[in-house]
Amino acid sequence: MSRTLTKSEKNRGGEIYDVVIVGGGPAGLTAGLYASRARLNTLLLEGISVGGQMMTTDIVENYPGFPQGISGADLTAIMEEHAKRFGLMTEMGEVIGLELTSGEKLVKTVDREYRAEAIIICTGTEYRKLGIPGEAKFTGRGVSYCATCDGAFFKDNKIVVVGGGDSALTEALFLTKFAKEITIIHRRDALRATKIYQERAFSNPKINFLWNSVVEEIKGNQTVESILVKNVTSGEVSEVPTEGVFMFVGIEPKTAFLRGVVELDESGYILVDENNLQTSVDGIFAAGDARKKMLRQVATAVGDGATAAFAVEKYLEERENT
Ligand code: NAP
Repeated sequence: MSRTLTKSEKNRGGEIYDVVIVGGGPAGLTAGLYASRARLNTLLLEGISVGGQMMTTDIVENYPGFPQGISGADLTAIMEEHAKRFGLMTEMGEVIGLELTSGEKLVKTVDREYRAEAIIICTGTEYRKLGIPGEAKFTGRGVSYCATCDGAFFKDNKIVVVGGGDSALTEALFLTKFAKEITIIHRRDALRATKIYQERAFSNPKINFLWNSVVEEIKGNQTVESILVKNVTSGEVSEVPTEGVFMFVGIEPKTAFLRGVVELDESGYILVDENNLQTSVDGIFAAGDARKKMLRQVATAVGDGATAAFAVEKYLEERENT
């Protein structure tokens, strides 16, 4: 039985994708799986490698189905294989902007443009910089934002971790595999992190805490040698010797390229319709950590990816019928 070709099927020769997914973390890979399985002509663009922050997570232990936990790298590989099984195409390309013409959308990377009927933004977040003297100078020379990437360089060293949230504690716990002593420096006297991580950190003999303290400067010659730490209660500043500084002072959405295109909140998170995850622009959807939401986890990113891909399918069907 033959049927009439959809507009996007007719256009396929001209390389117009039904949907371009920007970002390949758990949200993007799930959106890719659902969209490909729905037989949409789907391309996923990823800047460096798929997996996003999941890729650099030592153990994901709260994603259902893996009671013993699974490494972020293994979970990434499984999700990628799963999506590709249904035909998802992926390409490397750092997206620098979107251009909207009548109906059609252009996704621009540094070296080329992709035409799309719909777009799903899944760019996630990145770790915030503290913005103190020495931080930029010593990044890669003792200052790091990724324990799984750099932890092994600090074998038997004395290091510090800055922050009091889930990232600071999970990464500090991971770093105990390498470092001989870890000081968590937190600006308050109570942690923000989930209780189970607090219990593990408090009972780990390699971890100690410096409360009510902020790092004001990172010092050294070729590599980090010490930090200046201010006690916010007494105002006293002291120099603490350390060979490594791991920064986990929060996250920021990777949405700079969307300014002026879709509506963002004051922190740069993408505002969406909670029902179908459509942004303020018709045909542009957002899924995962980059959108405004309460809980940022692999499990919630996966749910977003499925919803956004289904919403794209409905959006394209409605366009075909009008
Ligand atoms: P976060 O929850 O925003 O915590 C940031 C921490 O850095 C807070 O303790 C904050 O202090 C501190 N901080 C912020 N700005 C600072 C500054 N200028 N100077 C000193 N300290 C500063 O960020 P996160 O830990 O990266 O977590 C981000 C999201 O990912 C969260 O939703 C988290 O639950 C999730 N996550 C989950 C897991 C997991 O479930 N396994 C693991 C990692 C991350 P205050 O507490 O005083 O604000």
